[in-house]
Amino acid sequence: MMEQDENRELTCREVVGLVTDYLEDALLPEMHMAVTEHMIGCPNCSAYYAQMRRTIAMLRQLAQEPTFPQTKEALLQKFRELRG
Ligand SMILES: [Zn+2]
Repeated sequence: MMEQDENRELTCREVVGLVTDYLEDALLPEMHMAVTEHMIGCPNCSAYYAQMRRTIAMLRQLAQEPTFPQTKEALLQKFRELRG
């Protein structure tokens, strides 16, 4: 049906492999476009992309914060330890 070389579409596997570069804007414009077009037509890859984007945003945020107890409970625990 489709010619091999001409206007070849990316496979899901290729898109998954490119998502982190895509998020960091590290792809060539044509490749970036190809990934975008794939995700428009592929719910699986667009869901994967959304999940990756959230994860990376969260990691970035965590990396920026000073080390701090994760929860209020952990904070209170630290407090009790300090007070002996
Ligand atoms: Zn896909």
